[in-house]
Amino acid sequence: MRVLIVEDERDLADALRRALEEEGYAVDTAQDGAEGLHKARSWEYDAVVLDLMLPKLDGRAVLTRLREAKSTPVLVLTARDAIQDKVALLDLGADDYLTKPFALGELLARVRSLIRRGCSDPRPMLRIGQVAVDTVARVVRLGDQIVPFSAKEYALVEFLVVHRGELVTRTMIYEHLYDESDDSLSNVLDVYVSRIRKRLGNDFVRTRRGEGYIVDA
Ligand code: CA
Repeated sequence: MRVLIVEDERDLADALRRALEEEGYAVDTAQDGAEGLHKARSWEYDAVVLDLMLPKLDGRAVLTRLREAKSTPVLVLTARDAIQDKVALLDLGADDYLTKPFALGELLARVRSLIRRGCSDPRPMLRIGQVAVDTVARVVRLGDQIVPFSAKEYALVEFLVVHRGELVTRTMIYEHLYDESDDSLSNVLDVYVSRIRKRLGNDFVRTRRGEGYIVDA
């Protein structure tokens, strides 16, 4: 899953990026509201973390203008804790908010929850036959064994399983699992898929030649 962080405080943006990347997310960042709005409109993010106080275009304006075009889930970061502000944010189309300062663990949990709500199947545990994908612990089990996957491989398994029964094109995978600075992927995608097959069974992922991949529902 791919997340955009719009935050002008460099240290905070870096900390959020690292934390999300460790969980296997692809992460893009924007340092002002104008850049954030441009990126949020240009790409299919699974969630946007949006600070309110931003140079060039403030978070409210970004949210309002994004909502004219897209329903991407947005978590707003706000320094204020006045109730009216929170109500106003939700009315503007924010899906959730977090008051600064916050614990990183809480932000990660809220991002997971936002992404789940945007999926056709919002349950935290997804099962296909003997395979169970635990989207909270971010692990895959085969029977009662945890299957060792890297964060990126896990992200691919989760994405395929969330879209089970659908054709997942290579373009969808690039847009949702890789950030804008990553150009290494076209050759590693096949490697990831073959590792997934080796660990979860050859039939777990089918290739539709020239189009993409399918995990049967
Ligand atoms: Ca700020």
